Amino acid sequence: MDLDRFKLVNDSLGHAAGDQLLVEASRRFQECLRSTDTLARLAGDEFAVLAEVQDPADPARIAERLIEALRPPFLLNGEEVYMSASIGVAVGDWTRRPEDLLREADTAMYRAKAAGRNRYQYFEEAMHLEAVRQLHLEGEIRRALERGEFVLHYQPVVRLQDQVPVEMEALIRWRHPRDGLRLPAEFLEAAERAGLGPTLGAWVLGEACRQARAWATRIPQSPVVVSVNLSASQVQDPQLPDRLTAAFQTTGASPRTLRLEVSERVLASLPPEALHRLGRLGSLELGVHVDDFHNSLAPDLLQWLPIRALKVPWAVISTSPEPRQAAHRLLTGARDRRIPVVVKGVEDPQALEEVAAMGFEYAEGFAIARPMDPEAATAYLLGVNGR
Ligand code: C2E
Ligand code: CA
Repeated sequence: MDLDRFKLVNDSLGHAAGDQLLVEASRRFQECLRSTDTLARLAGDEFAVLAEVQDPADPARIAERLIEALRPPFLLNGEEVYMSASIGVAVGDWTRRPEDLLREADTAMYRAKAAGRNRYQYFEEAMHLEAVRQLHLEGEIRRALERGEFVLHYQPVVRLQDQVPVEMEALIRWRHPRDGLRLPAEFLEAAERAGLGPTLGAWVLGEACRQARAWATRIPQSPVVVSVNLSASQVQDPQLPDRLTAAFQTTGASPRTLRLEVSERVLASLPPEALHRLGRLGSLELGVHVDDFHNSLAPDLLQWLPIRALKVPWAVISTSPEPRQAAHRLLTGARDRRIPVVVKGVEDPQALEEVAAMGFEYAEGFAIARPMDPEAATAYLLGVNGR
Protein backbone atom coordinates (compact mmCIF):
# COMPACT_ATOMS: atom_id res chain seq x y z
CA MET A 1 0.00 0.00 0.00
CA ASP A 2 1.39 3.34 -1.08
CA LEU A 3 0.08 6.75 -0.10
CA ASP A 4 -0.65 8.75 -3.20
CA ARG A 5 1.26 12.02 -3.58
CA PHE A 6 2.68 11.84 -0.07
CA LYS A 7 5.75 13.64 -1.29
CA LEU A 8 3.61 16.67 -2.07
CA VAL A 9 2.63 16.98 1.59
CA ASN A 10 6.21 16.56 2.71
CA ASP A 11 7.46 19.17 0.27
CA SER A 12 4.74 21.74 0.90
CA LEU A 13 3.97 21.40 4.60
CA GLY A 14 7.32 20.12 5.85
CA HIS A 15 8.57 16.86 7.32
CA ALA A 16 6.91 17.32 10.71
CA ALA A 17 3.53 17.51 8.99
CA GLY A 18 4.50 14.51 6.90
CA ASP A 19 5.35 12.51 9.97
CA GLN A 20 2.10 13.54 11.60
CA LEU A 21 0.21 12.32 8.56
CA LEU A 22 2.00 8.96 8.65
CA VAL A 23 1.17 8.48 12.31
CA GLU A 24 -2.46 9.45 11.83
CA ALA A 25 -2.80 7.25 8.72
CA SER A 26 -1.26 4.28 10.60
CA ARG A 27 -3.79 4.77 13.38
CA ARG A 28 -6.68 4.77 10.91
CA PHE A 29 -5.34 1.69 9.18
CA GLN A 30 -4.99 -0.12 12.46
CA GLU A 31 -8.58 0.66 13.33
CA CYS A 32 -9.88 -1.23 10.33
CA LEU A 33 -7.74 -4.32 10.94
CA ARG A 34 -8.20 -7.22 13.34
CA SER A 35 -5.79 -7.78 16.19
CA THR A 36 -4.45 -10.86 14.39
CA ASP A 37 -3.55 -8.86 11.26
CA THR A 38 -0.12 -7.36 10.92
CA LEU A 39 0.40 -3.79 9.82
CA ALA A 40 3.88 -2.66 8.91
CA ARG A 41 5.43 0.46 7.55
CA LEU A 42 8.02 -0.75 5.08
CA ALA A 43 9.53 2.56 4.10
CA GLY A 44 8.59 6.19 3.54
CA ASP A 45 4.93 6.13 2.62
CA GLU A 46 4.82 2.37 1.96
CA PHE A 47 2.75 0.12 4.19
CA ALA A 48 2.01 -3.58 4.20
CA VAL A 49 -0.81 -5.55 5.71
CA LEU A 50 -0.53 -9.26 6.34
CA ALA A 51 -3.93 -10.79 6.96
CA GLU A 52 -5.09 -14.35 7.27
CA VAL A 53 -8.33 -14.73 5.32
CA GLN A 54 -10.97 -17.41 4.82
CA ASP A 55 -13.25 -15.95 2.19
CA PRO A 56 -11.75 -15.17 -1.24
CA ALA A 57 -13.57 -11.82 -1.05
CA ASP A 58 -11.89 -10.85 2.22
CA PRO A 59 -8.81 -9.16 0.73
CA ALA A 60 -11.05 -6.87 -1.32
CA ARG A 61 -13.07 -5.98 1.78
CA ILE A 62 -9.92 -5.15 3.70
CA ALA A 63 -8.57 -3.05 0.83
CA GLU A 64 -11.86 -1.17 0.56
CA ARG A 65 -11.84 -0.47 4.31
CA LEU A 66 -8.28 0.84 4.12
CA ILE A 67 -9.12 3.15 1.25
CA GLU A 68 -12.25 4.29 3.03
CA ALA A 69 -10.25 5.02 6.19
CA LEU A 70 -8.26 7.69 4.35
CA ARG A 71 -11.32 9.47 3.04
CA PRO A 72 -11.85 11.99 5.88
CA PRO A 73 -9.37 14.89 5.53
CA PHE A 74 -6.26 15.09 7.70
CA LEU A 75 -5.79 18.24 9.72
CA LEU A 76 -2.16 19.29 9.29
CA ASN A 77 -0.86 22.72 10.38
CA GLY A 78 -4.46 23.87 10.49
CA GLU A 79 -5.06 22.78 6.93
CA GLU A 80 -7.38 20.08 5.61
CA VAL A 81 -5.37 17.68 3.52
CA TYR A 82 -6.87 14.91 1.46
CA MET A 83 -4.95 11.69 1.10
CA SER A 84 -5.56 8.46 -0.76
CA ALA A 85 -3.74 5.16 -1.22
CA SER A 86 -3.03 2.65 -3.95
CA ILE A 87 -3.14 -0.95 -2.87
CA GLY A 88 -1.84 -4.13 -4.48
CA VAL A 89 -3.26 -7.41 -3.28
CA ALA A 90 -1.44 -10.73 -3.45
CA VAL A 91 -3.03 -13.91 -2.17
CA GLY A 92 -1.13 -17.04 -1.28
CA ASP A 93 -0.93 -19.85 1.22
CA TRP A 94 1.84 -20.65 3.70
CA THR A 95 3.89 -22.44 1.07
CA ARG A 96 4.55 -19.13 -0.70
CA ARG A 97 7.72 -17.25 0.08
CA PRO A 98 7.06 -13.87 1.73
CA GLU A 99 9.33 -12.06 -0.68
CA ASP A 100 7.38 -13.46 -3.64
CA LEU A 101 4.07 -12.35 -2.18
CA LEU A 102 5.46 -8.90 -1.50
CA ARG A 103 6.80 -8.66 -5.03
CA GLU A 104 3.41 -9.62 -6.46
CA ALA A 105 1.63 -7.13 -4.22
CA ASP A 106 4.10 -4.49 -5.35
CA THR A 107 3.48 -5.26 -9.02
CA ALA A 108 -0.26 -5.01 -8.46
CA MET A 109 0.18 -1.78 -6.49
CA TYR A 110 1.97 -0.13 -9.39
CA ARG A 111 -0.87 -1.17 -11.62
CA ALA A 112 -3.34 0.40 -9.20
CA LYS A 113 -1.32 3.62 -9.34
CA ALA A 114 -1.13 3.50 -13.12
CA ALA A 115 -4.88 2.95 -13.27
CA GLY A 116 -5.44 6.28 -11.55
CA ARG A 117 -4.61 5.82 -7.83
CA ASN A 118 -7.03 5.62 -4.89
CA ARG A 119 -7.89 2.02 -5.70
CA TYR A 120 -6.80 -1.54 -5.16
CA GLN A 121 -5.73 -4.10 -7.67
CA TYR A 122 -5.30 -7.83 -7.29
CA PHE A 123 -2.12 -9.35 -8.58
CA GLU A 124 -3.20 -11.27 -11.66
CA GLU A 125 -1.68 -14.66 -11.44
CA ALA A 126 -3.11 -15.45 -14.84
CA MET A 127 -0.95 -12.79 -16.44
CA HIS A 128 2.14 -14.00 -14.71
CA LEU A 129 1.34 -17.60 -15.64
CA GLU A 130 0.67 -16.49 -19.20
CA ALA A 131 4.08 -14.85 -19.40
CA VAL A 132 5.75 -17.98 -18.05
CA ARG A 133 3.73 -20.23 -20.36
CA GLN A 134 4.59 -18.10 -23.39
CA LEU A 135 8.29 -18.24 -22.57
CA HIS A 136 8.17 -21.98 -22.11
CA LEU A 137 6.18 -22.58 -25.29
CA GLU A 138 8.60 -20.42 -27.22
CA GLY A 139 11.53 -22.60 -26.21
CA GLU A 140 9.55 -25.72 -26.96
CA ILE A 141 8.66 -24.48 -30.45
CA ARG A 142 12.28 -23.72 -31.26
CA ARG A 143 13.33 -27.19 -30.12
CA ALA A 144 10.41 -28.80 -31.97
CA LEU A 145 11.62 -27.14 -35.19
CA GLU A 146 15.11 -28.55 -34.66
CA ARG A 147 13.82 -32.00 -33.80
CA GLY A 148 11.37 -32.17 -36.69
CA GLU A 149 8.26 -32.54 -34.55
CA PHE A 150 6.03 -30.57 -36.92
CA VAL A 151 4.01 -32.32 -39.62
CA LEU A 152 1.55 -31.22 -42.25
CA HIS A 153 -1.83 -32.85 -42.55
CA TYR A 154 -3.87 -32.44 -45.69
CA GLN A 155 -7.53 -31.79 -46.29
CA PRO A 156 -8.94 -32.08 -49.81
CA VAL A 157 -10.96 -29.49 -51.69
CA VAL A 158 -13.21 -31.35 -54.10
CA ARG A 159 -15.10 -30.49 -57.27
CA LEU A 160 -18.68 -31.23 -56.29
CA GLN A 161 -19.92 -32.60 -59.62
CA ASP A 162 -17.60 -35.62 -59.45
CA GLN A 163 -15.97 -35.46 -55.99
CA VAL A 164 -12.53 -35.19 -57.58
CA PRO A 165 -9.96 -33.48 -55.32
CA VAL A 166 -8.51 -30.42 -56.98
CA GLU A 167 -6.39 -29.30 -54.10
CA MET A 168 -4.99 -30.38 -50.75
CA GLU A 169 -4.82 -27.78 -47.98
CA ALA A 170 -1.77 -28.17 -45.76
CA LEU A 171 -2.59 -27.80 -42.05
CA ILE A 172 0.21 -27.80 -39.54
CA ARG A 173 0.28 -30.22 -36.59
CA TRP A 174 2.78 -30.63 -33.81
CA ARG A 175 3.62 -34.21 -32.87
CA HIS A 176 4.41 -33.34 -29.28
CA PRO A 177 6.43 -36.09 -27.56
CA ARG A 178 4.36 -35.80 -24.38
CA ASP A 179 0.99 -34.31 -25.34
CA GLY A 180 0.46 -36.05 -28.68
CA LEU A 181 -0.91 -34.18 -31.67
CA ARG A 182 -1.25 -30.46 -31.00
CA LEU A 183 -3.47 -28.30 -33.19
CA PRO A 184 -2.41 -24.90 -34.56
CA ALA A 185 -4.73 -23.09 -32.14
CA GLU A 186 -2.50 -24.33 -29.33
CA PHE A 187 0.78 -22.95 -30.61
CA LEU A 188 0.55 -20.69 -33.65
CA GLU A 189 -0.21 -17.54 -31.70
CA ALA A 190 2.66 -18.13 -29.31
CA ALA A 191 4.96 -18.72 -32.27
CA GLU A 192 3.81 -15.47 -33.86
CA ARG A 193 4.30 -13.50 -30.66
CA ALA A 194 7.78 -14.95 -30.32
CA GLY A 195 8.62 -13.76 -33.83
CA LEU A 196 8.88 -17.35 -35.04
CA GLY A 197 6.08 -16.94 -37.61
CA PRO A 198 8.32 -16.58 -40.66
CA THR A 199 10.65 -19.39 -39.54
CA LEU A 200 7.82 -21.81 -38.92
CA GLY A 201 6.19 -20.60 -42.12
CA ALA A 202 9.36 -21.28 -44.10
CA TRP A 203 9.34 -24.83 -42.82
CA VAL A 204 5.70 -25.22 -43.86
CA LEU A 205 6.46 -23.87 -47.34
CA GLY A 206 9.41 -26.23 -47.79
CA GLU A 207 7.48 -29.25 -46.56
CA ALA A 208 4.40 -28.43 -48.65
CA CYS A 209 6.60 -28.08 -51.75
CA ARG A 210 8.30 -31.38 -51.00
CA GLN A 211 4.93 -33.09 -50.74
CA ALA A 212 3.55 -31.39 -53.84
CA ARG A 213 6.58 -32.61 -55.77
CA ALA A 214 6.25 -36.15 -54.38
CA TRP A 215 2.57 -36.31 -55.39
CA ALA A 216 3.27 -34.88 -58.82
CA THR A 217 5.80 -37.66 -59.36
CA ARG A 218 3.79 -40.50 -57.86
CA ILE A 219 0.33 -39.56 -59.10
CA PRO A 220 0.99 -37.80 -62.40
CA GLN A 221 -2.62 -38.21 -63.57
CA SER A 222 -3.75 -35.99 -60.71
CA PRO A 223 -2.59 -32.40 -61.04
CA VAL A 224 -2.94 -31.85 -57.33
CA VAL A 225 -2.23 -28.44 -55.98
CA VAL A 226 -1.16 -27.90 -52.37
CA SER A 227 -2.38 -24.81 -50.58
CA VAL A 228 -0.55 -23.30 -47.65
CA ASN A 229 -1.86 -20.90 -45.02
CA LEU A 230 0.20 -17.76 -44.53
CA SER A 231 0.23 -15.82 -41.30
CA ALA A 232 0.18 -12.02 -41.23
CA SER A 233 3.88 -11.88 -40.34
CA GLN A 234 4.75 -14.17 -43.24
CA VAL A 235 2.86 -12.04 -45.73
CA GLN A 236 4.67 -8.97 -44.43
CA ASP A 237 8.05 -10.68 -44.48
CA PRO A 238 10.14 -8.96 -47.20
CA GLN A 239 11.97 -12.25 -47.67
CA LEU A 240 8.81 -14.13 -48.64
CA PRO A 241 9.62 -14.23 -52.40
CA ASP A 242 13.15 -15.45 -51.63
CA ARG A 243 11.87 -18.09 -49.25
CA LEU A 244 9.44 -19.28 -51.91
CA THR A 245 12.10 -19.40 -54.60
CA ALA A 246 14.36 -21.34 -52.25
CA ALA A 247 11.59 -23.83 -51.50
CA PHE A 248 10.95 -24.41 -55.21
CA GLN A 249 14.64 -24.81 -55.94
CA THR A 250 15.45 -27.26 -53.17
CA THR A 251 12.36 -29.41 -53.70
CA GLY A 252 11.97 -29.19 -57.45
CA ALA A 253 8.28 -28.38 -57.02
CA SER A 254 6.62 -26.22 -59.64
CA PRO A 255 5.18 -22.93 -58.41
CA ARG A 256 2.05 -23.93 -60.31
CA THR A 257 1.41 -26.65 -57.73
CA LEU A 258 1.39 -24.23 -54.80
CA ARG A 259 -1.31 -21.84 -53.60
CA LEU A 260 -0.98 -19.34 -50.79
CA GLU A 261 -3.96 -18.78 -48.53
CA VAL A 262 -4.20 -15.34 -46.98
CA SER A 263 -7.24 -14.37 -44.97
CA GLU A 264 -9.37 -11.47 -46.09
CA ARG A 265 -8.77 -9.81 -42.74
CA VAL A 266 -4.98 -9.92 -43.24
CA LEU A 267 -5.21 -8.80 -46.87
CA ALA A 268 -7.36 -5.84 -45.90
CA SER A 269 -4.80 -4.68 -43.35
CA LEU A 270 -1.67 -5.02 -45.49
CA PRO A 271 0.58 -2.03 -46.12
CA PRO A 272 1.03 -1.25 -49.83
CA GLU A 273 4.54 -2.72 -50.09
CA ALA A 274 3.36 -6.10 -48.80
CA LEU A 275 0.47 -6.03 -51.27
CA HIS A 276 2.80 -5.25 -54.16
CA ARG A 277 5.07 -8.09 -53.08
CA LEU A 278 2.12 -10.46 -53.10
CA GLY A 279 1.03 -9.09 -56.43
CA ARG A 280 4.41 -9.79 -57.96
CA LEU A 281 4.18 -13.43 -56.91
CA GLY A 282 1.88 -13.82 -59.90
CA SER A 283 4.98 -13.73 -62.08
CA LEU A 284 6.14 -16.87 -60.28
CA GLU A 285 2.89 -18.43 -61.50
CA LEU A 286 1.82 -18.70 -57.89
CA GLY A 287 -1.82 -18.41 -56.98
CA VAL A 288 -3.32 -16.74 -53.94
CA HIS A 289 -6.52 -17.80 -52.18
CA VAL A 290 -8.53 -15.31 -50.18
CA ASP A 291 -9.34 -17.28 -47.04
CA ASP A 292 -12.36 -16.59 -44.83
CA PHE A 293 -13.86 -14.43 -47.51
CA HIS A 294 -16.88 -12.40 -46.33
CA ASN A 295 -17.45 -10.45 -49.49
CA SER A 296 -16.03 -7.23 -48.13
CA LEU A 297 -12.73 -6.97 -49.98
CA ALA A 298 -12.06 -3.88 -52.03
CA PRO A 299 -12.54 -4.76 -55.72
CA ASP A 300 -9.15 -3.31 -56.70
CA LEU A 301 -7.44 -5.77 -54.35
CA LEU A 302 -9.07 -8.61 -56.21
CA GLN A 303 -7.74 -7.20 -59.45
CA TRP A 304 -4.27 -6.57 -58.14
CA LEU A 305 -3.52 -10.02 -56.82
CA PRO A 306 -3.12 -13.35 -58.62
CA ILE A 307 -6.28 -14.63 -56.92
CA ARG A 308 -7.25 -18.19 -57.78
CA ALA A 309 -10.08 -18.77 -55.34
CA LEU A 310 -12.25 -17.25 -52.67
CA LYS A 311 -12.73 -19.55 -49.68
CA VAL A 312 -15.99 -18.81 -47.93
CA PRO A 313 -16.86 -20.46 -44.61
CA TRP A 314 -20.16 -22.29 -44.86
CA ALA A 315 -21.19 -20.64 -41.60
CA VAL A 316 -21.01 -17.22 -43.25
CA ILE A 317 -23.52 -18.31 -45.86
CA SER A 318 -25.77 -20.48 -43.70
CA THR A 319 -26.14 -17.94 -40.92
CA SER A 320 -26.84 -14.98 -43.16
CA PRO A 321 -30.49 -13.80 -43.08
CA GLU A 322 -31.08 -15.02 -46.64
CA PRO A 323 -28.60 -17.85 -47.33
CA ARG A 324 -29.74 -18.38 -50.92
CA GLN A 325 -29.45 -14.70 -51.76
CA ALA A 326 -26.07 -14.50 -50.05
CA ALA A 327 -24.89 -17.49 -52.08
CA HIS A 328 -26.24 -15.98 -55.28
CA ARG A 329 -24.56 -12.64 -54.64
CA LEU A 330 -21.28 -14.36 -53.94
CA LEU A 331 -21.42 -16.55 -56.99
CA THR A 332 -22.36 -13.80 -59.42
CA GLY A 333 -19.68 -11.50 -58.00
CA ALA A 334 -17.05 -14.19 -58.34
CA ARG A 335 -18.23 -15.27 -61.78
CA ASP A 336 -17.90 -11.72 -63.06
CA ARG A 337 -14.29 -11.81 -62.01
CA ARG A 338 -13.84 -15.42 -63.14
CA ILE A 339 -12.73 -16.50 -59.68
CA PRO A 340 -13.85 -19.89 -58.35
CA VAL A 341 -15.50 -20.07 -54.93
CA VAL A 342 -14.70 -22.80 -52.42
CA VAL A 343 -17.13 -23.32 -49.56
CA LYS A 344 -15.12 -24.46 -46.55
CA GLY A 345 -16.09 -25.95 -43.22
CA VAL A 346 -18.90 -28.02 -44.69
CA GLU A 347 -19.44 -30.32 -41.78
CA ASP A 348 -22.35 -32.63 -42.53
CA PRO A 349 -23.89 -34.31 -45.60
CA GLN A 350 -27.00 -32.14 -45.44
CA ALA A 351 -24.94 -28.97 -45.62
CA LEU A 352 -22.97 -30.45 -48.49
CA GLU A 353 -26.20 -31.03 -50.42
CA GLU A 354 -27.29 -27.46 -49.81
CA VAL A 355 -23.93 -26.16 -50.98
CA ALA A 356 -24.27 -28.10 -54.22
CA ALA A 357 -27.91 -27.06 -54.66
CA MET A 358 -26.92 -23.41 -54.31
CA GLY A 359 -24.70 -23.81 -57.33
CA PHE A 360 -21.28 -23.87 -55.72
CA GLU A 361 -18.71 -25.95 -57.54
CA TYR A 362 -16.08 -26.61 -54.90
CA ALA A 363 -16.19 -27.55 -51.22
CA GLU A 364 -14.01 -28.58 -48.33
CA GLY A 365 -14.92 -29.90 -44.90
CA PHE A 366 -15.48 -32.85 -42.62
CA ALA A 367 -18.44 -33.89 -44.79
CA ILE A 368 -15.91 -34.71 -47.51
CA ALA A 369 -12.81 -35.64 -45.56
CA ARG A 370 -10.99 -34.68 -42.39
CA PRO A 371 -7.40 -33.50 -42.54
CA MET A 372 -5.19 -36.59 -43.05
CA ASP A 373 -1.59 -37.37 -42.28
CA PRO A 374 0.65 -37.53 -45.39
CA GLU A 375 0.31 -41.29 -45.75
CA ALA A 376 -3.47 -41.28 -45.51
CA ALA A 377 -3.62 -38.27 -47.83
CA THR A 378 -1.53 -40.13 -50.41
CA ALA A 379 -3.75 -43.22 -50.09
CA TYR A 380 -6.79 -40.97 -50.51
CA LEU A 381 -5.40 -39.38 -53.66
CA LEU A 382 -4.41 -42.76 -55.10
CA GLY A 383 -7.86 -44.15 -54.23
CA VAL A 384 -9.83 -41.37 -55.86
CA ASN A 385 -7.65 -41.38 -58.90
CA GLY A 386 -7.85 -45.13 -59.27
CA ARG A 387 -11.65 -45.04 -59.26
P1 C2E B 1 -8.25 -22.46 -41.69
O1 C2E B 1 -7.31 -22.01 -42.74
O2 C2E B 1 -9.61 -21.87 -41.70
O3 C2E B 1 -8.32 -24.04 -41.82
C1 C2E B 1 -9.49 -24.80 -41.63
C2 C2E B 1 -9.59 -25.30 -40.21
O4 C2E B 1 -10.90 -25.84 -40.00
C3 C2E B 1 -8.66 -26.46 -39.91
O5 C2E B 1 -8.37 -26.42 -38.52
C4 C2E B 1 -9.51 -27.68 -40.24
O6 C2E B 1 -9.11 -28.85 -39.56
C5 C2E B 1 -10.85 -27.21 -39.74
N1 C2E B 1 -11.95 -27.83 -40.48
C6 C2E B 1 -11.95 -28.34 -41.72
N2 C2E B 1 -13.18 -28.80 -42.08
C7 C2E B 1 -13.99 -28.54 -41.02
C8 C2E B 1 -15.38 -28.78 -40.76
O7 C2E B 1 -16.13 -29.30 -41.57
N3 C2E B 1 -15.85 -28.37 -39.55
C9 C2E B 1 -15.06 -27.77 -38.62
N4 C2E B 1 -15.58 -27.43 -37.47
N5 C2E B 1 -13.73 -27.54 -38.83
C10 C2E B 1 -13.21 -27.92 -40.02
P2 C2E B 1 -6.88 -26.48 -37.99
O8 C2E B 1 -6.07 -27.45 -38.76
O9 C2E B 1 -6.95 -26.63 -36.51
O10 C2E B 1 -6.29 -25.05 -38.35
C11 C2E B 1 -6.78 -23.90 -37.77
C12 C2E B 1 -6.21 -22.67 -38.41
O11 C2E B 1 -4.82 -22.58 -38.17
C13 C2E B 1 -6.36 -22.66 -39.92
O12 C2E B 1 -7.65 -22.21 -40.22
C14 C2E B 1 -5.26 -21.71 -40.31
O13 C2E B 1 -5.70 -20.39 -40.21
C15 C2E B 1 -4.22 -21.96 -39.26
N6 C2E B 1 -3.17 -22.81 -39.83
C16 C2E B 1 -3.15 -24.14 -40.00
N7 C2E B 1 -1.98 -24.56 -40.52
C17 C2E B 1 -1.23 -23.46 -40.70
C18 C2E B 1 0.08 -23.21 -41.20
O14 C2E B 1 0.80 -24.10 -41.65
N8 C2E B 1 0.50 -21.92 -41.21
C19 C2E B 1 -0.27 -20.91 -40.76
N9 C2E B 1 0.22 -19.67 -40.80
N10 C2E B 1 -1.51 -21.09 -40.30
C20 C2E B 1 -1.99 -22.35 -40.27
CA1 CA C 1 -7.11 -22.01 -44.91
